[in-house]
Amino acid sequence: MPIIDAHIHYGDDAPELLALLAEFDIRLHNICVSQDSHGGWRESADRYCFLAQTNPRRYAWCTSFDLPRLDDPDYVKGVIAGLEQDFAAGAVACKVWKNIGMEVRYPDGRFFQVDDPLLAPIFDWLAERGHPLLAHIAEPLDCWLPLREGSPHYGYYSRNPEWHMYSRPDYPSHGELMAARDRVLAQHPNLRFIGAHLASLEYDVDVLAATLDRYPNLAVDTSARLFDLVVQDSAKVRAFITKYQDRILFGTDVVMRTPPSAMAPRERAQAIASLRSVYTTHFAYFESTGSVTVRDREVQGLGLPPSVLEKLYRTNAKQWYPGLN
Ligand SMILES: [Zn+2]
Repeated sequence: MPIIDAHIHYGDDAPELLALLAEFDIRLHNICVSQDSHGGWRESADRYCFLAQTNPRRYAWCTSFDLPRLDDPDYVKGVIAGLEQDFAAGAVACKVWKNIGMEVRYPDGRFFQVDDPLLAPIFDWLAERGHPLLAHIAEPLDCWLPLREGSPHYGYYSRNPEWHMYSRPDYPSHGELMAARDRVLAQHPNLRFIGAHLASLEYDVDVLAATLDRYPNLAVDTSARLFDLVVQDSAKVRAFITKYQDRILFGTDVVMRTPPSAMAPRERAQAIASLRSVYTTHFAYFESTGSVTVRDREVQGLGLPPSVLEKLYRTNAKQWYPGLN
């Protein structure tokens, strides 16, 4: 069945990659990540846009916007002009990243939050046109807990200590960030809102379920959170996905560091093999009725029925990102 990877960062089209995508019939939804206030992220946008325009069967893209320029009175006008241009060029959504909430600050040191009134006209603009917002707000809960081996996020916070918030009370808490995100959901009920990474409520599908119940305009993607599901009881996860089968989008969040096209053949083969293994691991966990191994952990596969898999793998992405149609 055709599959949409609804959350990936893979701006390349090496023949070996295209062969893998054809083999599994996968289309990549490439997500821009804005990490500066003056358009530095545009380089990836141009690449993603080009791939989507030249090979729409295999690629689509999600734009973003410059981080807030708090001293620029024309900031919002500029953002909307950029979005207008990007959606006209085929973008299917707009992304905000965790730097909103955890990095951008006011001159007095306060953290700029996603529900800041400055961004409201941008979210209104998206909602009025039916353009979705993909939001990666906050981090996994483990970000605020002591580093522990066995955590699905041990590797990331070991390598990226600047994002590890344990015993840093000067930073917003997980709860504060979730509350700011929830205020956006409440204030923009017509905004199609996709919470990246299980909406940062990866630690318990019951908690995520309660948030989905509260906000009908929210869907979530599974990107980079497979292992958070794997460590929860398989029967519970299966029941959760079955109940919310219209609101969960399959995504991997694979981040391409070096384009395979620019690699030596052996290195390129390794990169493609590693991407293949990401996909086969996900498919095994979602589809298998027997036991599967994910990162050395043996668990019961979810054995989701074809009707649910079809939604998870493809139709939900088209429903929540209408531009993919
Ligand atoms: Zn991502």
